[in-house]
Amino acid sequence: MTNIKYDNNNIFAKILRKEAKANIVFENDYILCFTDIFPKAPVHVLIVPKGQFKDIFDFSLNASSDEKNAIYDGISKVIEIFGLETDGCRIISNFGKHGRQEVSHLHFHLLGGRDIGTMIS
Ligand code: 5GP
Repeated sequence: MTNIKYDNNNIFAKILRKEAKANIVFENDYILCFTDIFPKAPVHVLIVPKGQFKDIFDFSLNASSDEKNAIYDGISKVIEIFGLETDGCRIISNFGKHGRQEVSHLHFHLLGGRDIGTMIS
């Protein structure tokens, strides 16, 4: 486990504070969903909790039930918005060095709009 504290200057923190722009597709009290700036698929949306959680491990340990449930609400909303119910999509959360997480604010990538391919190439 890392003891590195949450960095309030990460880009997603700035987007959440509306200091940086994003193409928002859905928002509620707990989450902000916006398109990835470098999309890897026709649909590439980031589902981001508004609370200050640096990664999935931090979130799993420290988020409330409402904050956790909101992630699933975001996933279902984005699936509905982009009409992915039939063809499906992939949801990924990168964690830490081996997971190659680049932005240290928890986020889930939702990728769809085409066959996303094998899990690891
Ligand atoms: P990670 O590797 O941390 O799981 O993914 C970070 C993601 O954030 C990358 O897919 C990257 O393209 C995206 N990203 C980085 N900076 C920005 C930004 O300023 N705006 C948006 N919308 N996405 C960003």
